[in-house]
Amino acid sequence: MTDEKLTQEQADEKLIDEAFQELLDRYLESRHRKKVEIITKAFNFARQAHKGVRRRSGEPYILHPIAVARIACCEIGLGSTSICAALLHDVVEDTDYTVEDIENLFGPKIAQIVDGLTKISGGIFGDRASAQAENFKKLLLTMNDDIRVILIKIADRLHNMRTLGSMLPSKQYKIAGETLYIYAPLANRLGLNRIKTELEDLSFKYEHPETYQEIENKLKATQAERETLFEEFTAPIREQLDKMGLPYHILARIKSPYSIWNKMQNKHITFEEIYDILAVRIIFTPKNEEEELNDCFNIYVAISKIYKPHPDRLRDWVSHPKANGYQALHVTLMSNKGQWIEVQIRSERMNDVAEQGFAAHWKYKEGGGSEDEGELSKWLKTIKEILDDPQPDALDFLDTIKLNLFASEIFVFTPKGEIKTMPQNSTALDFAFSIHTFLGSHCIGAKVNHKLVPLSHKLQSGDQVEILTSKSQKVQPSWINYATTAKAKAKIMSILKREKKEFQMQGEDILSDFFKEEGLEYNDENVQKIYMLHNLKSADELTYKIGQKSILLGDAERNVFKDKPAPTSWKKYISFAFGNNKSKQNNVSSQKPSQTLDIDKKKIVKLTPDDLQKHYIIADCCKPIPGDDVLGYIDDNNRIIIHKRQCPIAAQLKTSFGNRLLAVQWEIGKALNFPVNVYIKGIDGIGVLNEVTQIISQQLSVNIHKLNIESNDGIFEGRIQLFVHDVDDVNTICANLKKLEHINKVTRIENFDDQITD
Ligand code: MN
Repeated sequence: MTDEKLTQEQADEKLIDEAFQELLDRYLESRHRKKVEIITKAFNFARQAHKGVRRRSGEPYILHPIAVARIACCEIGLGSTSICAALLHDVVEDTDYTVEDIENLFGPKIAQIVDGLTKISGGIFGDRASAQAENFKKLLLTMNDDIRVILIKIADRLHNMRTLGSMLPSKQYKIAGETLYIYAPLANRLGLNRIKTELEDLSFKYEHPETYQEIENKLKATQAERETLFEEFTAPIREQLDKMGLPYHILARIKSPYSIWNKMQNKHITFEEIYDILAVRIIFTPKNEEEELNDCFNIYVAISKIYKPHPDRLRDWVSHPKANGYQALHVTLMSNKGQWIEVQIRSERMNDVAEQGFAAHWKYKEGGGSEDEGELSKWLKTIKEILDDPQPDALDFLDTIKLNLFASEIFVFTPKGEIKTMPQNSTALDFAFSIHTFLGSHCIGAKVNHKLVPLSHKLQSGDQVEILTSKSQKVQPSWINYATTAKAKAKIMSILKREKKEFQMQGEDILSDFFKEEGLEYNDENVQKIYMLHNLKSADELTYKIGQKSILLGDAERNVFKDKPAPTSWKKYISFAFGNNKSKQNNVSSQKPSQTLDIDKKKIVKLTPDDLQKHYIIADCCKPIPGDDVLGYIDDNNRIIIHKRQCPIAAQLKTSFGNRLLAVQWEIGKALNFPVNVYIKGIDGIGVLNEVTQIISQQLSVNIHKLNIESNDGIFEGRIQLFVHDVDDVNTICANLKKLEHINKVTRIENFDDQITD
């Protein structure tokens, strides 16, 4: 053994010892019982099991489980069982030890959690969509067994995101995409607010490094200004609070880069146009527990004497906590500078719940560690119900679940005055299904606040809803458009599927009789002849239509078999056209012949003008141009499709086909022209159109390809399609158009017809 190696080893040992000691110190500061012995035992076991193994970053592997345990302890507030499971979470997956070994050494509870973590490891998502749905189901089911599995999984993901820099770029997109698609919403649903925000910001940082940096810089540049505003705004508030005599502190809450970007994208506005970057948070300690809610409202009354509150923006999450347990009173006040500022009023306890989520409930419960029988378990029950229904399409299933993760909530009342929590945008139909499947499937309409409304009616917080039913009512296919909750959608789909199956079976019987009468065989070839006759795509569709009696078998069908057999080339065409419909990814601009390319997935692929014309396809869904943050996706035909990184289709690809992603970079220069759409809005007047076209075609000599102007009540809206070289060109055009006196909005849009709302 050389001296150098010895030193390296010693240095590693020291690093590991220090990291573990820090974990122990932080654990001892927590309110949990002090079970240092078993934690030390778990650490020593994991350390020896991972011995000699390093992470991609080069550091000893054991530092990862220690970091995960530390997140579980300090940032989620979990206790010794979870800390042990976190320390051991990769042992079964990566070493020769088994779950039985863990059980023998640490008992059944820790072993069960490690087992759950091992089952869902390797990313929630496998290589194929079906595997992905399976794993996701598993994840949600283990969540039902022991919520700590998913909490530790989130801690694991958070540490992996914090250390994502050492991964390959193409892997980074997969992991970042998955994080944004599933883990951030999950963390949000479990009330882990701070972790959710960090996961989103890290994903954003890896997918759009430059935009992220830009926003960070702008935040820094405007920081002093915000600090002054904060001081001025809160000074009179402090005075009032001092008078009330409650211990309190006031914090400035700065919007995260990701939510700033999100708002810019969704509302088509610039950084400067976002007015709620600063919010104010008042955290107080109540005199006694019973007074907690009253104190919130007393503070509200006191501060609304200083500043005028916005009448429509009082959010009472105090009397009606969000489903993830969040409690606070949100008010928006007019500052002396004429700006609306949101103020969030929370007790110390509410603040803990907001930061650490549902795990924090335990802290305040007598006895501790007991199951929380609140909204969370109700939600888990809904998830379980959805899982119990067979879902045909993996990606649909994911989207359905995701609906429930993202939704924010409204409160509605039953006729008897009971409060029901529903996701925002819920309809009367959703409400019906949330109460009972029978009520949903026989719903003909509703009375909202005693007024008759259709079942597609969108509910508002505070509505009183009475569902009207009829025995003869049946679930209609169009209902899928009126339902927004995962539960209602899943129910409607499974009822429709069952009915469809019944029609198909009837259709098969009729078809079989028809063939018998004609002396023909019931085989694929003969069935195909009939469905081709009706321009249908499959035997299932045919039997369904026959069963439904929308196709009646007769002379037309008989004639098909009297004709000469179809030429073979025709048959080939059929199998080509329908053999390939498994691939979901048909949103590409053109069907270019596949050319085999030597791709090194480990490298960043440069998109040169020559290659772009020969080997790559620009995705039709998001139409990226040079300068946009993009990624490549290798499709079934070995072609490379270029998507914007934030494209919703790319988001699905990232989660379900992560191993087909490529890191790509534009190397086009100004060699090619790309179509791009720009939206403008302003005050109509003589010559406005002329000014616009002049700027574009004369000053900037860019060709206008398509132009659409609509004028209404003195406001005009224009959509322009241009050919440009890159994002810089578009930005220059937008900046120049914005300078025009009568124009007040200019923004790039993805599709020519995209609707822009203010
Ligand atoms: Mn791990």
